[in-house]
Amino acid sequence: MRLNFCSLSSGSSGNCYYLGNEFHGILIDAGISATAIRKFLKGMDISMQTIMGVLISHNHSDHIKGLEVLTRKNSLPAFTTPKVWESILTPHTKISRDCIREIPMQQKFHLAGFDIEAFPVFHDAPETIGFHICAGDKKITIVTDLGHICNTAAPYIKAANLIVLESNYDEQMLMNGGYPHFLKARIRSDHGHLGNHQTAEFLAENITDNHNYICLAHLSKNNNTPEIALQTLQRRFSEKGIVLGEQQEILVLNRNVPTKMIRLI
Ligand SMILES: [Zn+2]
Ligand SMILES: [Zn+2]
Repeated sequence: MRLNFCSLSSGSSGNCYYLGNEFHGILIDAGISATAIRKFLKGMDISMQTIMGVLISHNHSDHIKGLEVLTRKNSLPAFTTPKVWESILTPHTKISRDCIREIPMQQKFHLAGFDIEAFPVFHDAPETIGFHICAGDKKITIVTDLGHICNTAAPYIKAANLIVLESNYDEQMLMNGGYPHFLKARIRSDHGHLGNHQTAEFLAENITDNHNYICLAHLSKNNNTPEIALQTLQRRFSEKGIVLGEQQEILVLNRNVPTKMIRLI
């Protein structure tokens, strides 16, 4: 089975990821405009007709900005838990009712050739979920907004061949930056975002040869840079004597443009 993954956009301004096999594709989050999603997919020769649905992680606008238009104009079904739906659907949201699909927590469901399981994480939204997706013998975990890696989330990340994991902020940049105290505290809290140091520590503790791709995701615009996020991880790996194999690669996902297509074989 062919399996392609691409980040269309990743960061605090908007998140959208594509995962496809030779027949169909799915999107994970729709935090950029539907126009941008269509344009980026077209640029990669992916027809919108092949997209079978969009999975939604939580109700923050950087994950659902394009959802209304995608469901209305493209009649794209959207999948998330009843509690996340409850937080998204207000009297003002114009999401087509025909497109609403409820999924269970921590139970597999099938979509477009993928077995998908949602799992809960700690973040400052009414409910936030990560996704563990299996296709053939390949496993992918996408989890981008979480204050810490809890015992529920950890096994899904450890089991993946392709990990998309938040590396939101550099501790020093956040603390020395201009954000008000309450916001700094919220970001650093157990229900906020994962800092570079936390992501690096978890990966250094848990990396195995089965982790083919590590994608550092959801970088803050103001409190991080791709170079610092990457260096923090590489430094921690080298301190622990970890040397990556030929089949292993670390990528830092771009904030506003697609990152290269990853082909998992
Ligand atoms: Zn976010
Ligand atoms: Zn969020």
